[in-house]
Amino acid sequence: MISITEQKPIEETMKYLDKCEAVYIIGCGTCTTMLHTGGKTEVLAMKDTLEAAGKKVTGWMVVPTTCDELTKDAMAEQAEELKTANCVLVMSCAFGVHMVNLHTDKPVYPAVNTLFIGQEESPGQFIEACMQCGSCVLGRTAGICPLVRCAKGLFNGPCGGSVDGKCEVSPDIPCAWQQIVDRLAEQGRLNEMEEIEPPRDWGTSQSGGPRRLKVED
Ligand code: SF4
Ligand code: SF4
Repeated sequence: MISITEQKPIEETMKYLDKCEAVYIIGCGTCTTMLHTGGKTEVLAMKDTLEAAGKKVTGWMVVPTTCDELTKDAMAEQAEELKTANCVLVMSCAFGVHMVNLHTDKPVYPAVNTLFIGQEESPGQFIEACMQCGSCVLGRTAGICPLVRCAKGLFNGPCGGSVDGKCEVSPDIPCAWQQIVDRLAEQGRLNEMEEIEPPRDWGTSQSGGPRRLKVED
């Protein structure tokens, strides 16, 4: 599973950097390298773009995993280059942007948009796997998420629009609930479909500020 990202339009990135003459660039050796949105090649291309626009790039690095705590040590090793920058441009997913932001007092700007947590279906083809809803039902749905894979996010499907295993929104999209039914049938669990999933408590989802969890010893 990886964070799926796309580069922001360069105009948006340049607008962030409007008042920032000297920039330090941080890429990520994991997800954005895999997606070609913030690996070494893209960091160097961004450096060229910024320099062509008259900015000074005080330094750059590609941290192995920007969302990891080791980012702090990597930034400490680049303290001089970071100190002479007015801001930091981060070419990692939002987790990495958060991590960098914890370890500098400079303004930190993202150069990519974080789209979703996904998996690689086939080389270069990614699909959303989870939207971190906070109350997982995969145990009931044969490991296929009805929230991200069903166009209506149904917890009791399929709807009346499922035709020949395809979703009514497009003949190119498999019906998630058909997939769930097929998999449950393969596993001899079709009888579980008779249980109705009760109305959901959305209190565990993205509302009411940041979600927190305390792990006891
Ligand atoms: S039910 Fe929620 S936690 Fe489980 S895979 Fe789907 S979005 Fe993620
Ligand atoms: S056709 Fe299937 S995937 Fe599409 S909305 Fe209906 S149940 Fe969901």
